[in-house]
Amino acid sequence: MHGLYVHIPFCMRKCGYCDFASTDRWNSEDLAAYMGALAGEISRRGHEAGESLSSLYVGGGTPTVLTPALWEELFGAIHRQYSLDPDAEITVEANPGTLNEEGLRHLRLLGVNRLSLGVQSFDDRELAAMGRIHTGSQARQMVRLAAQAGFANLSIDLMQGVPEQTEDSFRSSLSEAAGLPLTHVSVYELKIEPDTAFFTRQQQGRLDLPADGVLSGMDGLREQILGEAGFGRYEISNYARPGQESRHNLLYWRNRMYTGVGLAACSRVPGKRITNTTDMVEYIRAHRDNRLPDALVEPVDRAMALEEELFLGLRLQEGIRAKDLQERHGVDLFAQYAGPIRQMTDEGLLSISGEGICLTRRGMDWANRVMTAFMR
Ligand code: SF4
Repeated sequence: MHGLYVHIPFCMRKCGYCDFASTDRWNSEDLAAYMGALAGEISRRGHEAGESLSSLYVGGGTPTVLTPALWEELFGAIHRQYSLDPDAEITVEANPGTLNEEGLRHLRLLGVNRLSLGVQSFDDRELAAMGRIHTGSQARQMVRLAAQAGFANLSIDLMQGVPEQTEDSFRSSLSEAAGLPLTHVSVYELKIEPDTAFFTRQQQGRLDLPADGVLSGMDGLREQILGEAGFGRYEISNYARPGQESRHNLLYWRNRMYTGVGLAACSRVPGKRITNTTDMVEYIRAHRDNRLPDALVEPVDRAMALEEELFLGLRLQEGIRAKDLQERHGVDLFAQYAGPIRQMTDEGLLSISGEGICLTRRGMDWANRVMTAFMR
């Protein structure tokens, strides 16, 4: 199994909380130069997979700023370099403010079979406070149009703990999600990152966020509303209908191999992790010089690979299976980690099944504490 991630770092407007590698300062020439460099990187990295792709994920940024011609070129470059499994999951991230029926039809024709919509909220006050370019009604409409266009596998992102949000408004966004033809919902808690507009406002005392008590109430709401609507929590922040878990993201959490192309993209290939430059000028220069845009190549030895597998696997509801750890790393889970397993089960944060270990419902809210215990 190998996945390919493609990063499109352009947005219509920078959201107040966003520290992703994305910019709203670009024109059609920048876009063309970047897409040329991206196609070059795809062809230079093609050998890393060594097998056909089980998943392709085009994320950003806002990939749906691409014109139909640029989409054709991108998929042409990918198909020249990689073969895809017949049932490969092909996801595109979309911003509800940048897509229409024609765009949806075109994505379907390209073979895209999963859409991930950056909805964030259905509440107009919250959306405006976050700096999003769409309204709640545009988001609702986009989900319906995507379903009509044949996207049977549809995901949205929601955010928790954002300015203007109350328990009621969060409940209402979750209920809207539960009533739409979705297969997957990601719910991310707002984190204030440096170099964002929210960070500056917080430093100036101008950012009003929901109080801690309100936030903890929200955790219970998402479990209840999404659970009752048939979505299972399969990862700390992710809920899916049975069998509709994100196969691409499962590659990350199961510590499998993937190639990332584009600005700031990461690859995990046997024995190393590669991180691309975050500097757009350098990214395009690397292409012109006929070299890869690597900024960092880190060797990953056996001990690091084991640590990664524990750290990532604990995020998943399925947890870590002793048999997998034995086969992949030659490690006896219950012998090597007897101390943290005992401590975390005593605290009610971890449970032991016949096959391995996983976080309890409470453990999902205290995941960092559990992970730290295993890393000591
Ligand atoms: S649309 Fe997404 S990537 Fe772009 S600025 Fe907003 S949050 Fe960041």
